[in-house]
Amino acid sequence: MTLQRHRVLVAAIDPVDVEILGATCDAAEQYFDAICFIEDPLTPPESAYDPARRQYRSDVILGYLNLLAPDRVEKVLAVTELDLYVPGLNFVFGQAILNGRPAVVSVARLRPEFYGQPPNLSLLLERVQKEVTHEMGHLYGLEHCSNRRCVMSFSNSIVEVDMKGKEFCPKCWEILREHLANSESDG
Ligand SMILES: [Zn+2]
Ligand SMILES: [Zn+2]
Repeated sequence: MTLQRHRVLVAAIDPVDVEILGATCDAAEQYFDAICFIEDPLTPPESAYDPARRQYRSDVILGYLNLLAPDRVEKVLAVTELDLYVPGLNFVFGQAILNGRPAVVSVARLRPEFYGQPPNLSLLLERVQKEVTHEMGHLYGLEHCSNRRCVMSFSNSIVEVDMKGKEFCPKCWEILREHLANSESDG
């Protein structure tokens, strides 16, 4: 039994549906023994916006989250409807600093509507949980996994998101457990 739980601040950047925030907290609490708390939506940093692409730079957003999150917060996990990219890629579903503090997940391309399909809340929430679990995995030291069923496998398309499972493979789970145990003994 762990006594010390991890404090994870879940933040919306611009308003996000309550179901999506709930799914985000569920994923954080299920695998990371997190105490999740949600604060008012943040305003996206203007410096992250590229008007030509109509997208926001996720790496700039990560820096912003890191600055804004209070010291007592171990990890800060943002969800947003904004479409994200990093230079060199057309888009990203999310981004996190390996072993770092901030992570962000975009819902924009997880919505079936984005692909011309009818809305499907349960499918959307399942995708959100996968991407949140994936980015949280990076925050706690996991890199990409070659097991295509593992939640830590890299997704370049929505087909790949749907193909992978929402759980860690045994190998990743082992690494994660060790990492979580170490961060607890560090105090
Ligand atoms: Zn990743
Ligand atoms: Zn794995």
